[in-house]
Amino acid sequence: ENILIIGNGGREHAIVWKIAQSEKVQQIFAAPGSYGMQQVSKVKNVELDVKNFKASEVAKFCKHNKVSLVVVGPEDPLANGIADVLLAEGINTFGPQKDAARIESDKNWAKAFMDRHNIPTARWKSFDNAKEAKDFICNAPFPALVVKASGLAAGKGVVVASNTSEACGAVDEILTDKKFGTAGETVVIEELLDGEEVSVLAFCDGNTVKAMLPAQDHKRIFDNDKGPNTGGMGAYCPCHLLSSRELEYVQKEVLEKTLNGFKKENIKFVGVLYAGLMVTKDGPKVLEFNCRFGDPETEVILPLLDSELYEIMASCCEGTLNTVELKWKDGLAAVGVVIASKGYPETSTKGEVICGIQSVTARTGYEVFHCGTALKDDKVVTNGGRVLIIVSLVPQLVVAASKATEACGIINFNGKQYRKDISHKGIARSIL
Ligand code: ATP
Repeated sequence: ENILIIGNGGREHAIVWKIAQSEKVQQIFAAPGSYGMQQVSKVKNVELDVKNFKASEVAKFCKHNKVSLVVVGPEDPLANGIADVLLAEGINTFGPQKDAARIESDKNWAKAFMDRHNIPTARWKSFDNAKEAKDFICNAPFPALVVKASGLAAGKGVVVASNTSEACGAVDEILTDKKFGTAGETVVIEELLDGEEVSVLAFCDGNTVKAMLPAQDHKRIFDNDKGPNTGGMGAYCPCHLLSSRELEYVQKEVLEKTLNGFKKENIKFVGVLYAGLMVTKDGPKVLEFNCRFGDPETEVILPLLDSELYEIMASCCEGTLNTVELKWKDGLAAVGVVIASKGYPETSTKGEVICGIQSVTARTGYEVFHCGTALKDDKVVTNGGRVLIIVSLVPQLVVAASKATEACGIINFNGKQYRKDISHKGIARSIL
């Protein structure tokens, strides 16, 4: 089979690495792909404009190259309807159509959907008028301190305020100053939830939803969860924050209710449903849904998957996920530490020569996924904010964490930064 994957990050590198392991897969085209992805056997980068994609061009490419499955990595093309066009052309697509992608791309709609179907989430209200929003913040019956631009803002449209005046300031930035353009025409004001976060990603074929192992991300740039938010500085899997009873609760009250809600509303969700959860004293509550694999969670989840990813994705497209068993590598922990470039997340440098990747890949028990690298004058150089993610796979979380962190010391480039405490909460839990 020939496959096309859309995207170029560490997430997509991990996906092609896993898909390529299937004997059924002959060739993987990556659009735009990356230097790192092209290192995987069977992968060939192709130039297709996927940012301002003309889905019909993508469909033409698929027909010409006998592509039987398209896997969409990032949310933007899904929100823009790439799956709609491909499916209309008869091409199997792993990733939801526009109406289902709304669960991520329109937070106002997603919150109303959760209320309609009784899915546990923070209390909320949405506004398009700044004065009304600020009045609500000052008089709400709950700490209304989380302010979110309703549309897609690459993870930057959320302010967790520490007091009402900060929350009101965020409303002004989004609604009055239009900091996020049309993505901020509506704000969602939410109750501040207290607890620890965990991500539960699930495969979905429209009828069946099967959860992957839970993972935990680390959004802040510095150790001890300090400093500004980033796209994610590392993750680990499995995360044992949820008890088996809570996991069952998430399966029934979050994942299945969401799928049934979609069905009732005549919406078909095919792809990965990602539930970002806050585990509060009243149980897990949904912070957000994403309609695709998360980055960097994917880089620690997929190395633990024992089943063939290609088979799972194909079954999701065919509606036969109920016949497939998700098998996991028992007794292993995966820790991924991101190495970012100087200035990240505010700015980022490019073109710094990277040394030492091969000395890590040559060791057993490691995978190195490229988030933003390029080849320049025969040398591997940095090419973005997040550069690499070093994943260690061994039986114990604490050992995986120290191995992944230590390996980051072997890889060098000017201005590199990485956290030295990835999975600290999981390690503390395992010691208790
Ligand atoms: P992402 O980059 O994960 O896609 P996003 O822009 O979609 O982010 P959310 O996930 O909704 O935004 O929020 C980002 C972060 O803000 C969450 O991971 C969480 O740490 C915090 N957050 C969001 N909502 C709440 C809430 N109601 N209470 C407490 N913290 C919250």
